[in-house]
Amino acid sequence: MRQIDLAIIGGGFAGLVCAQAAAVRGAKTVVFERKPFIGAKPHTTGILVKEVADRFDFPEKFVRKIHKVRLYSPNLNFIDLHSPGYYFLATDTTGLLGWLAEQAANSGAEIRCDSTFRDCQKNPQGWSLPDFTVSARYLVGADGARSRLASTLQVPANRKFLLGVEQEWDNVRGLEPDFLHVFLDSHFARGYIGWAVPGVHGTQIGLATSERHAPRLDEFIGRLRKIFDFGDATCTGQRGGLIPAGGTLHHPPLASALLLGDAAGTVSPLTAGGIHPALELGRLAGVAIANHLLDGGPDPWQQIRRQLPSYAFKNLLRRGFETLTPPNALLDFALNQPLFRRFAQTVFFHHRGLLTLEAWRDLLRLPDANRDFVSL
Ligand SMILES: Cc1cc2nc3c(=O)[nH]c(=O)nc-3n(C[C@H](O)[C@H](O)[C@H](O)COP(=O)(O)OP(=O)(O)OC[C@H]3O[C@@H](n4cnc5c(N)ncnc54)[C@H](O)[C@@H]3O)c2cc1C
Repeated sequence: MRQIDLAIIGGGFAGLVCAQAAAVRGAKTVVFERKPFIGAKPHTTGILVKEVADRFDFPEKFVRKIHKVRLYSPNLNFIDLHSPGYYFLATDTTGLLGWLAEQAANSGAEIRCDSTFRDCQKNPQGWSLPDFTVSARYLVGADGARSRLASTLQVPANRKFLLGVEQEWDNVRGLEPDFLHVFLDSHFARGYIGWAVPGVHGTQIGLATSERHAPRLDEFIGRLRKIFDFGDATCTGQRGGLIPAGGTLHHPPLASALLLGDAAGTVSPLTAGGIHPALELGRLAGVAIANHLLDGGPDPWQQIRRQLPSYAFKNLLRRGFETLTPPNALLDFALNQPLFRRFAQTVFFHHRGLLTLEAWRDLLRLPDANRDFVSL
């Protein structure tokens, strides 16, 4: 058996940044990814918040800035939201993941594709991975929403999910390029939202629903034909998957192992954004594991667990939204209400948290003092 310091299961966002941070500090690191190449068939829309762009220097060719949000009610009326200086990034997800893999490899990590993790056993030094004939001092599970490692280690796994499905289209016209187009509709996107994103290469159109309801993507696209021009448009691909929606998973400390990203449930139950926490905590874990293995630093899990988002308030809002499922007529009415607009602004543009003083000050601000809104 080959001896290594760190084995990472899953070459997604969390696994790759963890590998880069550990390898660059000198830890012998191998990433095991089941797909034939990193970034193959991504399941995600890949929208990133500005905070990620500020911390990670992504090459310009893989990202496109989008400054505003256009929020539609079911009758297709809309309001425009923005916050000066803020933006989202649409991404070429395959390209971006490939670039993250390149960064990890350049830092000394080995990336092994076509390598599906099935089992591991504890040994005195750490973990044996018999399928890969490797023994690792530390093991990281970054293998997504249905983590095989979580079930192998018998720790709590994700139980609540949203179902997300998306198509990529070429030549959809009439879509304002500087907007994330977000659709509220309890019929098509029950329990969540629909979206149309002018992406890096084409237009990404998708929706997510609570898992008891099948996403009705074809019907949704039929609806969009009323406001966008699909005359010359062609569908070039489809993606989708499960989005953990039950909040961060809490498990007892594991000997020389930890879970990251979707495997640890670190996805906002309200916005379904999981890439930001996957990247932030992935990097933190890589640093902590290298410090622990190479210099006798503290238990990495103890450091990570202090940084895990709790999502308590967002979880509450998600459950409320799911249980009450507002009728479309109510959503049509709400979109015109100043308080609802401020709430939407707070959800989209307060990434430091809905419970911050600043978020609530903005939420309760008088309409005429609110210069961030453009209502059409
Ligand atoms: C339709 C959809 C749209 C989304 N849109 C957004 C968005 O716009 N913005 C956002 O922030 N978040 C979004 N999310 C959530 C986001 O994609 C995830 O939170 C994020 O990808 C988590 O990264 P990760 O590295 O933890 O897991 P993943 O990206 O899932 O990576 C896990 C990797 O592990 C590999 N793997 C799995 N099992 C094994 C195994 N047994 N052996 C070896 N390898 C294995 C997988 O092939 C994969 O490459 C979306 C999710 C979906 C489904």
